[in-house]
This record gives sequence, structure tokens and C-alpha cells, in this order.
Amino acid sequence: MGKGTPSMGKRSNGKAHVPCRRCGRSAYNVAKGACASCGYGKTARMRSYSWAKQH
Ligand SMILES: [Zn+2]
Repeated sequence: MGKGTPSMGKRSNGKAHVPCRRCGRSAYNVAKGACASCGYGKTARMRSYSWAKQH
């Protein structure tokens, strides 16, 4: 199996995200070392986008 598109459907093993220590959501990506929700590990400020709902 390569790393192309065909292999993307078999990525259910292990856990990509663990609970984030800053936002508490299970969005901290272990491999990337950054939270997908608040940006912890990637930016000192909270990750926020205008197109994202605040609530
Ligand atoms: Zn976070």
C-alpha cells in the first residue's frame, strides 16, 4: 500500500487526535503536534477563522 488516495480509506487504526490541553477537545493531532481546533502547538494565539461559528 502506498500513501496515495487509495490508502486513505484504511486510516481507522490508532488515534490521530487526543484531548487538547488548551481547548479540551479531542482535536490535538499527535503526528502534527498541533490542535486542529484551537491551534495549540502551532500558534500561541487561539486558532480562529471568520467562517467558523463561535458557538
Ligand atoms: Zn485545542
